[in-house]
Amino acid sequence: MNNLMQNKNIVVMGVANNRSIAWGITKSLQNAGANLIFTNRQERSRQKLEKLLAENEIEPKLIVSCDVADDESIVQAFREIGEKVGTIHGVVHSVAFANRDELKGEYANTSREGYLLAQNISSYSLVAVTREAKKLMTEGGGIVTQTYLGAERVVPNYNVMGVAKAALEASVRYLAEDVGKYGIRVNAVSAGPVRTLSAKGVSGFNDKMTVIEEKAPLRRQIDQDQVGDATVFLLSDMSRGITGDVLHVDSGFHIIA
Ligand code: NDP
Repeated sequence: MNNLMQNKNIVVMGVANNRSIAWGITKSLQNAGANLIFTNRQERSRQKLEKLLAENEIEPKLIVSCDVADDESIVQAFREIGEKVGTIHGVVHSVAFANRDELKGEYANTSREGYLLAQNISSYSLVAVTREAKKLMTEGGGIVTQTYLGAERVVPNYNVMGVAKAALEASVRYLAEDVGKYGIRVNAVSAGPVRTLSAKGVSGFNDKMTVIEEKAPLRRQIDQDQVGDATVFLLSDMSRGITGDVLHVDSGFHIIA
């Protein structure tokens, strides 16, 4: 246990089950003494989250429903958080979605609808969430999203999601400039491949994991806990000089040609 996040109210968006990256982040935040608030979209995810919290003896401050595809739902969720919790000090945005059939084959075949869907859920959502969260972050704090190397380079089959992540990373920079004057920092963690529900949707995902073991400087895969600790670093005062940045948690894979 460390006290990095003692007395900090942090909103975690995107726990679907115990494999979710957001669950790794939850454990790291709990270990750092944070007060936790959760948002879920699906009722099924909420039930899984409640079970996980009970099993791990984590007492949430609040769980609210939030569909990031819907502006009103985001406004409502943060309004409720404001009413019931008050000031918040951070947000973990760990949410993405694309149609499974567009995560394989040629990117040129992406439909307009599929392109807009991926951008909407995976990228625009950070803009809308930052706008609402900012109102409650009256003491400053950190917002951290989750991205992937497919934003920077062509990763086979990642396709439409790679383009959405590129927009997300650009958004991190523009948002960082907007809210920096309020003492709020915005950063992203670029995680190596982690076997989660969402990752299953990307064709050939297993190959991406194997190549990390073969080629990354650390020669090992990464896990949710490593992403969790790096995310807590970016939420905490330890990273107070860092904003608009992308921190790679990928065993160093991104530096290899
Ligand atoms: P999960 O499937 O565990 O989590 C994805 C989450 O996104 C779910 O909790 C889901 O909520 C949520 N979500 C999807 N659509 C919406 C919506 N409209 N409104 C609100 N929430 C929504 O997968 P991961 O943990 O892998 O994904 C988390 C983040 O990490 C994503 O941004 C992903 O791109 C990123 N990432 C993942 C990597 C990996 O290899 N797994 C690598 C690098 C980045 P619900 O269950 O309620 O639908």
